[in-house]
Amino acid sequence: MRPDLLNPLFAPVTSLPGVGPRLQPLYGKLAGGKVVDLLWHLPSGVIDRRFAPTVAEAPDGKVATLVLRVEAHFPSSSPKRPYRVRMADDTGFLHLVFFHGREDWLRQQLPEGEWRVVSGTVEHFNNEIQITHPDHIAPVERKAEVMVVEPVYPLTAGLTGRMVGKTIKAALARTPELVEWQDAAWLARQGWPSWRRALDAAHHPDDDGESQARRRLAFDELLANQLALALVRMRMRALKGRPLTGDGRLRLAVMAALPFSLTGAQTRSLAEIDADMAAPLRMLRLLQGDVGSGKTVVALLAMLTAVEAGAQAAMMAPTEILARQHFATIAPLADAAGLRLALLTGRDKGKARDKVLAALSAGDIDILIGTHALFQEDVAFRDLALAVIDEQHRFGVHQRLELAAKGVAVDMLVMTATPIPRTLLLTAYGDMDASRLDEKPPGRKPVDTRVISLDRLDEMAAAVGRAVASGARVYWVCPLVEESETSDLAAAEERHRHLSQMFGDRIGLVHGRMKGPAKDKVMERFAAGELDILVATTVIEVGVDVPAATVMVIEHAERFGLAQLHQLRGRVGRGDKDSRCLLLYGQPLGEVAKARLEIMRATEDGFRIAEEDLRLRGGGEMLGTRQSGLPEFRMADLARDGDLLAVARDDSRLVLDRDPELNSPRGKALRVLLYLFERDAAVRTLRSG
Ligand code: ADP
Ligand code: MG
Repeated sequence: MRPDLLNPLFAPVTSLPGVGPRLQPLYGKLAGGKVVDLLWHLPSGVIDRRFAPTVAEAPDGKVATLVLRVEAHFPSSSPKRPYRVRMADDTGFLHLVFFHGREDWLRQQLPEGEWRVVSGTVEHFNNEIQITHPDHIAPVERKAEVMVVEPVYPLTAGLTGRMVGKTIKAALARTPELVEWQDAAWLARQGWPSWRRALDAAHHPDDDGESQARRRLAFDELLANQLALALVRMRMRALKGRPLTGDGRLRLAVMAALPFSLTGAQTRSLAEIDADMAAPLRMLRLLQGDVGSGKTVVALLAMLTAVEAGAQAAMMAPTEILARQHFATIAPLADAAGLRLALLTGRDKGKARDKVLAALSAGDIDILIGTHALFQEDVAFRDLALAVIDEQHRFGVHQRLELAAKGVAVDMLVMTATPIPRTLLLTAYGDMDASRLDEKPPGRKPVDTRVISLDRLDEMAAAVGRAVASGARVYWVCPLVEESETSDLAAAEERHRHLSQMFGDRIGLVHGRMKGPAKDKVMERFAAGELDILVATTVIEVGVDVPAATVMVIEHAERFGLAQLHQLRGRVGRGDKDSRCLLLYGQPLGEVAKARLEIMRATEDGFRIAEEDLRLRGGGEMLGTRQSGLPEFRMADLARDGDLLAVARDDSRLVLDRDPELNSPRGKALRVLLYLFERDAAVRTLRSG
């Protein structure tokens, strides 16, 4: 249970003064729906309001704080004209200007004849001085409160700086001092303030200690991240494992049926997996390998060991298409070895589903391949011993645990095609054991990548037409339009029409709005060679395997992140024919986008692309996005604070070695830290969590 002390921070933003149901969604959009989210919403700069001139001295364009007497109200004569209030001091007068000003409110704020402190940007306009929508209007006795250096917050439409500033101030005011969770010696060495003081300093960017404060908050977040991962890891390790070894009978049969031999990297990774499975511990291993590096075969061979040992294995994919594809790839090999294979996805219903479930619990199925449907409560194995999770980043840690709970001492193999630089691997997986497939299967030819302006679209389309005429199969990926699935679709449909007019009807279209079976049908027709060109939105991004496809066209490539571009390009160059990738960019092309496309042109090595991207913009493109599945940090900026990551990992290890249940005074404080950063699930792994 979250400590009561933190409750005010986890209350909805509407618990703060001035935030009603109307503003709630705006704050939700800006920072998040809870008070604590506002604490993490740090200012991007400051406004200095300490300049307090007289009216005569007030220069144009400067922020100033003036003490003025209210002389007269001039309500607007028409909706288009502003409401004006004339204010003066001994040296002259100016007007406060309000568009859509409400008279009753303004008269209450600015009673004629009284003095007020007013702060805002002074404008000289048609020989008059004015302040449009002053940021502050206050009674004179509150002058000192107004004349400060004020933080400037990133905003969203509908919220003003003043509103956000006030709300965050209120959030800070109800933030308690918390018992220190950092190691005292480390804190002293860094010269960092307490958490509470750090928060204040971070919200006052003029403060000398601001950058130190931000580092401290970043480290807090990284520590919470590493500690949470370490706790889950510890719990997995503590669960008894079971030694799984096979007699190699099935493996031999499958290897004989494979039309190729394993690469060195595949053999090495498999040996690492075998060793884990044979040990009486639980395996939790990450198999990292670029698109096309051959993860599926490694996974299959690992699953065979579980089956040889008399148990069952499961393989879970993030999408229906992928699950079906794995099934299609594995089925002939399974046949060759006399394995009993089944598929279970969300689409299976009624009798067919019941039949699979019955066979599964009776032990008449050796390997089950599927989607999220494998999590469903009534899915019961006779004896699940190995779970393979493909494209893991789409699943959460708790889902991993849920699947593990479907068997006794289940070993886990997690596969990802997102190349993650070593340092960042930590943020997503902690110190999970990792195997890398850093070698492509032999015979792969490099993909000839060209970066071309969209101005030459017609020329490119004609070239694609010639390629098709000589037997090529083409992916044509359509522009990603920000925040609008509908316009993605419109663009893809438009391109489909256009290409169909040029080349006839052997052109298919797939997009995210299509129903599963319809989507599969188009993909199958493309794979079978009934379609020459497949126009697609990014639904083809992950894992789809059509070795005969040799041309990848990406429209508006500058709008895609590096990870996506890399994944998309990985769709071609899978067979023995020469492949091409055309990256069509629109203008204007920014510096970063240009550098990104240049990296794509220069290399196909996913790990290198990931490192370059990290260097280019702190991993924001490739790894900070939701799609990458890596955690998004609120306080930590990995480009700036990456050095703290390893410290946080070492610190969490040390803490858990000494105090695995977090019961010491520091351990208790660390629990609060975990709750503060919403790692509640990790605390629940503790006996008294
Ligand atoms: P990944 O899942 O890592 O993207 P896949 O497992 O789908 O890659 O493999 C891509 C393609 O390479 C498949 O067609 C597979 O049959 C083939 N392949 C895998 N391993 C080898 C190998 N050692 N030699 C040749 N081809 C291989
Ligand atoms: Mg794959």
